Amino acid sequence: MRVANYEGRLALIVGSGVIDVESASSGAFSADPQGAYENWPALCDWASGVDGPTQPLDESKLGAPVPRPRQVFGIGLNYRQHADEVGAQYPEFPATFTKFPSCLVAPNSVVELPSESVDWEVELVVVVGREARFVDEADGWSFVAGLTVGQDLSERVVQSRPPSPQWSLGKSFAGFGPTGPCVVTPDELADPDNLAISCALNGEVMQSSRTNDLIFNVPALINRLSSIVTLFPGDLIFTGTPSGVGVARKPQRFLKDGDHLVSTIEGIGTMAVSFASRAAAPQDRAAAHAS
Ligand code: ZN
Repeated sequence: MRVANYEGRLALIVGSGVIDVESASSGAFSADPQGAYENWPALCDWASGVDGPTQPLDESKLGAPVPRPRQVFGIGLNYRQHADEVGAQYPEFPATFTKFPSCLVAPNSVVELPSESVDWEVELVVVVGREARFVDEADGWSFVAGLTVGQDLSERVVQSRPPSPQWSLGKSFAGFGPTGPCVVTPDELADPDNLAISCALNGEVMQSSRTNDLIFNVPALINRLSSIVTLFPGDLIFTGTPSGVGVARKPQRFLKDGDHLVSTIEGIGTMAVSFASRAAAPQDRAAAHAS
């Protein structure tokens, strides 16, 4: 099953068509895309027998598939090759931060750049399907509603600002969490633990890996996180990024006005985000004049 936020309404994607869930279910399910995860098994049961009516998919009408999660976890240094490129040891427990949910935006967004130090990080994003507390690793996948593509956009100066790193703030500027194009259930994927993942900047491949390079894979993350925090239906977990980020390149490279970033995960889909420099706000111009 493929679930989307289409013009702000919960929808199923079937081939190149869209089914509005509230209309097709005669109101049995709410139109709120976030509400899908509160009643996920029932939605899956209903969707397996649904048959149209469909409207043609217009990708410009897609919104963030999970727009208002209670919690958004981010995991750092979770691909072996990425930990190697930044010279970090493999962590013994997932290096966890939060992306504040206000940073989540649609898969086709134009993201405003607050500085010249914004980096890309393509990531597999897990959507939690039911409340999880002290989950055995072997049962991890049964707590997952589905998977989507995400960009953990990162402002590297704020992220590493002394006296202690500020990962959660550096990764939570407005627009820094594009996700989409839809949520795909694990049963749609031949091997959900081994998916090709990549991103290309203006057509040039920057990151290309497979999710079997994860240090903590999806069930391991559900196990480790749920040993401390209660996970709720509709929570998101950004699972970490593979090697090839801009800050680790020689010379370093960051996102610029007019850049176009295409992120793809095998079997899930593609997300295309553009970037625009932030126009100087009046207080910034005043500060520049004063200095
Ligand atoms: Zn990340």
